[in-house]
Amino acid sequence: MIIEPVIRDNVCLTAHPLGCEAQVLEQINYIKSQGPMTGPKRVLIIGASNGYGLAARIVSAFACRADTLGVAFERPGRAKRTASAGWYNTEAFTRQARASGLGVWNINADAFSNEAKEEVLETIRTHLGQIDWFLYSIAAPRRKDPVTGDLFSSVIKPIGEPSTSKTVNFLTGEVTEVTAQPASPTEVEQTVKVMGGEDWSLWIQYLMDAGVLAQGARTMALSYIGPECTRAVYRDGTIGRAKAHLEQTVGELTQRLEPIKGQAWISVNKALVTRASAVIPAVPLYISLLYRVMKAKGLHENCIQQMNRLYRDFLFGTSVPPPKTDDQGRIRLDDWEMREDVQEAVRDLWDRINDGNARQLADIEGFKQEFLRHHGFDMPGIDYMQDLGEDIVASNAL
Ligand code: NAD
Repeated sequence: MIIEPVIRDNVCLTAHPLGCEAQVLEQINYIKSQGPMTGPKRVLIIGASNGYGLAARIVSAFACRADTLGVAFERPGRAKRTASAGWYNTEAFTRQARASGLGVWNINADAFSNEAKEEVLETIRTHLGQIDWFLYSIAAPRRKDPVTGDLFSSVIKPIGEPSTSKTVNFLTGEVTEVTAQPASPTEVEQTVKVMGGEDWSLWIQYLMDAGVLAQGARTMALSYIGPECTRAVYRDGTIGRAKAHLEQTVGELTQRLEPIKGQAWISVNKALVTRASAVIPAVPLYISLLYRVMKAKGLHENCIQQMNRLYRDFLFGTSVPPPKTDDQGRIRLDDWEMREDVQEAVRDLWDRINDGNARQLADIEGFKQEFLRHHGFDMPGIDYMQDLGEDIVASNAL
């Protein structure tokens, strides 16, 4: 089978196993080049197959030499249908980490379910004993309530009034205007149910009750704030409401972790191309401009670089504990993105960009390349004309 990218509505439906392996290896090599560090040794990551969660798993394993338990919800391959990128990424990570003598356990399940929590607990008890670092890094479109069985869907919409904004088709470079209609109160509520802090809190309660969080264990979830031009649809919209809820959950979790002297944190990360961010209106255009500005200023970071800085400069490196935070107690890994000179330059480009000058002003190629690479395409050194055997496409080594 020759695998090509099939993209619909900014979602890539195929993935390339060899390309995914190459991009995982690239991240591992980057981390190895940064040298070893002292850090957590028994790590649980929810959302470990892609984006920020995968990057954190790689730093944990290849900088801190941690054993890792990763939870993700990915599609396995079949003879004539590729697996999802996260599936191949997890396989690649597993091969590399095992070859380095590290403990690796994977659970492919819906993290919102009680079954996933039970399976995680059993795996911790059997193999790890306890966990000292738990990263909650989910980006999910829906959640089934584990008690009532009700299904909730998250939407990305403004609240109160419609929002019109420029947007870019990153495949063609076409810049247009889109209007997003406001969410209904039910949609706001449902988005908070999916992407807010409730499930993170349930996880902490469950792991605390079971006694598998080690003395001094730390946990973290990831948030985003962003600039004025995405505010209506992101921070002041449904997803921002969910992020505000997630951020408020920290206080309650830190109290709950008090008996083990544990701590919960929020890290506000940088806007990056991932599978999740590509589907948010206005965000691909903002990211394309941000990349142009940050690359020019030598400030650009990708997922692995952000996570490397989080571990070394904030959590486990020289500045611990406690890490430097903003006045609301959040770690700000978006510090370089939100620098006034960066935002001023992005604002200027945002005002001037149109369909005619988009490719000159914005790093649309950079966005597209990173998007493709998240799915294993456009990686250097991979022969994309190679006819892959069914065993490689439908690999099920997990
Ligand atoms: P991603 O799409 O790259 O990865 C999402 C992960 O969640 C995958 O591993 C996927 O398998 C897992 N997942 C989804 N539904 C699941 C479920 N039901 N059960 C178990 N696992 C599930 O996303 P990302 O961009 O890395 O986002 C991770 C977190 O970082 C999110 O909370 C996001 O809001 C936050 N964040 C992202 C950005 C950005 O620009 N990408 C910026 C700041 C913060």
